[in-house]
Amino acid sequence: MEIMYKNTRDASEMVTASQAILNGLANNGGLYVPTEIPKLDVPMEALSEMSYQEIAYEVMSRFYTDFTEEELKTCIERAYDEKFDTPNIAALKVAGRACFLELFHGATVAFKDMALSILPHLMITAARKNQAKEDIVILTATSGDTGKAALAGFAGVEGTKIIVFYPKDGVSPIQKKQMVTQVGDNTLVVGIDGNFDEAQTGVKKMFSDAVMNQELAEHGFRFSSANSINVGRLIPQVVYYVYAYAKLFRNGKVSPGEKINIVVPTGNFGNILAAFYAKEMGLPVAKLICASNENKVLYDFFTTGVYDRNRPFILTSSPSMDILISSNLERLIYRLCGEDSEKNAALMEELSTTGKYTITEEMKEGLSVFYGNYASEEETKEAIRKMYETNGYVMDPHTAVAACVYEKYRNETGDDAVTVIASTASPYKFTRSVMDAIEPDNTESDDFKLADRLAELSGVAIPQAIAGIRTAEVRHTKTCAVDEMPDTVRSFLWN
Ligand SMILES: *Cc1c(COP(=O)(O)O)cnc(C)c1O
Repeated sequence: MEIMYKNTRDASEMVTASQAILNGLANNGGLYVPTEIPKLDVPMEALSEMSYQEIAYEVMSRFYTDFTEEELKTCIERAYDEKFDTPNIAALKVAGRACFLELFHGATVAFKDMALSILPHLMITAARKNQAKEDIVILTATSGDTGKAALAGFAGVEGTKIIVFYPKDGVSPIQKKQMVTQVGDNTLVVGIDGNFDEAQTGVKKMFSDAVMNQELAEHGFRFSSANSINVGRLIPQVVYYVYAYAKLFRNGKVSPGEKINIVVPTGNFGNILAAFYAKEMGLPVAKLICASNENKVLYDFFTTGVYDRNRPFILTSSPSMDILISSNLERLIYRLCGEDSEKNAALMEELSTTGKYTITEEMKEGLSVFYGNYASEEETKEAIRKMYETNGYVMDPHTAVAACVYEKYRNETGDDAVTVIASTASPYKFTRSVMDAIEPDNTESDDFKLADRLAELSGVAIPQAIAGIRTAEVRHTKTCAVDEMPDTVRSFLWN
């Protein structure tokens, strides 16, 4: 069965999977959604014998129907290799009352690696399939994390270049070190004299600059974006939920057909939407538990049916969830509207003009598989401490938000079904917050020394991705003013 991709805001647009991956965003700012969620018609007995890569093929081939078997298998092979520090790619660890699905064994020790390691390969394959001869140029502005994960994914991938702009004085020392030590001749990392918003605006301007796009085409390049709304990022995230269930099944933790709950620390709503897709494919899932930090727009939305971004933006210890507009939620809203692109477009228009929208009672009923709640900063810290003291397991603050919300859910409902918590970052990525929770008296000011101490306490070795940057050579020293960004791009690409 051929799966096509339609636009959530324009019923007249319909493209193939490879075109959706290549385009990223649909017309009028809409998102691409599959015309149907395919069924995972492989018995669990068979899936439970498969490797991560084999399951990835089973899931992705059902969504990306215009890719050949060889194309997809090549992408998967190139993505899920020794860049990951476990041959299983994702790891399942039992601690306390839940199973942690560790999604942080890739190049930047956070879950974005799961999708960003395959996106470049999907993109160049998609380009070839659509007779796009140009090399792909990824332009990104970053406030820290996404930039590094994208760099790691695209580095050394033939047919692509990646240019990352970051605010020179606006990222943490470790984040900066991670980026400026990036290897790969196709990578460029530039610090700008300005803040993140200016970097972001500069990048957006280049994307929409007709003259610059023309110049690029003349030199054999085209811009593309590695944004989290790309279906080339969304679908690879479905894989690990299927993988987790298959592992539980194999280990006798669930019996045939037994439903599990999934808890996801949520920001842009991509990861939890992937879990929803897994459920729609037929994976036995009962509740999808959406965990927020103090920026609890989603919790309020699930409770009231009103999505309202008009509120103060709170900086928390789980920065990747400090988000007021969860872009991927639009895909769910579109479904709740009965796939009516006009209704959806009207709600999104309201969001952009007034900062809020309200869904109908009928639409709200469609949200019953979700449970939303949030954790305060104090609760998050307490969750890290308690988990460490009772089970010896160390969680990063994002995962701790999820664990805390799971406890709230259990206390409220008494539901003791097998539950998987998506564990989205290594504690070593947020050493300071983690150490503040488990050893509050420690006054060490050097982050690397703190990491050494965390290794002693947790018995988990410092991942190579963190240890390596201590001594790595700085390869990117370029800085520029905001208005010099286009010339910086030109001179990297063809001067
Ligand atoms: C991006 C990110 C999240 C949020 O995931 P979404 O798909 O945006 O909801 C959670 N934790 C970490 C560590 C992340 O990097």
